[in-house]
Amino acid sequence: MSRPAKAVINLDALQHNYQLAKSLANQERRNGKVLAVVKADAYGHGAVACAQALADQADGFAVACIEEALELRSIGIRQSILLLEGFFEASELVEISRHKLDIVVQSPEQLLMLEQNPLPAPVRIWLKMDSGMYRVGLLPEEFRSAWLRMETLPWVSDIVMMTHLACADEPENGYTRHQLEVFEQHTLGLPGERSIANSAGLVDYSQARADWNRPGLLLYGASPFETLHPIEQKLQPVMALQSAIISIKDIPAGSPVGYGSTWVSQRPTRQGVVAIGYADGYPRHAANGTPVMVNGRRVPVIGRVSMDMLTIDLTDVPEARPGDSVVLWGKGLPAAEIARHARTIPYQLFCNLNRVPVEYVQSPVMVKA
Ligand SMILES: *Cc1c(COP(=O)(O)O)cnc(C)c1O
Repeated sequence: MSRPAKAVINLDALQHNYQLAKSLANQERRNGKVLAVVKADAYGHGAVACAQALADQADGFAVACIEEALELRSIGIRQSILLLEGFFEASELVEISRHKLDIVVQSPEQLLMLEQNPLPAPVRIWLKMDSGMYRVGLLPEEFRSAWLRMETLPWVSDIVMMTHLACADEPENGYTRHQLEVFEQHTLGLPGERSIANSAGLVDYSQARADWNRPGLLLYGASPFETLHPIEQKLQPVMALQSAIISIKDIPAGSPVGYGSTWVSQRPTRQGVVAIGYADGYPRHAANGTPVMVNGRRVPVIGRVSMDMLTIDLTDVPEARPGDSVVLWGKGLPAAEIARHARTIPYQLFCNLNRVPVEYVQSPVMVKA
């Protein structure tokens, strides 16, 4: 038998979550479009498989850079593909226009490169305003003149106005309202489509739902919010990280478990070992008490997570046996919850996935008669 650790990716769940995003996007306007954000290998879920699963329904895709976009073009993705960081040097521009890629333009340097390099075919640009995140984007005062400069270029086909929200994952944070107002004010009267919302904005801020929405995490079935949020009930987790118990033993009260002896049994304990560790992407900082699921029941991680293994307390699941399957996150055990125990975010858990084989499941497509 080979090592049992694996990630199972449910592509039906991905499609379900995409449709959920679409329905949110259409709550106020009839035609809100949804770009499926599949950067960073679809947040560790596999960009090729995820894009293929969404190829018939997605309005478009978004990635970080041209390399990620060309991978999608090479498997036949025809929709718009947006490069969220635009381009890094002028030499990319010809390929961008040849492959009909959309680009974010977010800095004065990119504006200049675009002006100085006539392109063989017109491109759509997404002109990004820094409405208050102070990371990338043109400052609000620079935005209108930048828009006018781009508008005159024959090789710019159209301009989508975009911005990015810094605090949409905190439901009560008034800063989002502030950013929305800044964006609204400095794009007032400019013709063209707009794009504001990431996952959290799309769920919680009707004003952020614009012509184009850009959810990432939501598509993978995880909540972007720091605290419990009702959207979790509608999401279907796409990834299940699983492994199996490889050893069980009874240890007396007072036994220190694992590296650094950070956990000591308070009672005679059935200790189990699971074949998964931080080299697989399970967070080393998962605290004592972080839940895992054995035969559908939650039991706590005890002691430090090692590279290839972790230890759990099976005292309350006496029927557990070596070989039994263990779910680290997935259905019934949201990655967002594990992230809270590890003082990180589900984004990082997914992106850190490593070494484990990935298995895809999808129900057969119904063929219409
Ligand atoms: C990654 C990214 C998104 C998606 O964010 P989620 O929080 O995963 O929905 C949206 N917009 C931009 C500009 C991004 O870089």
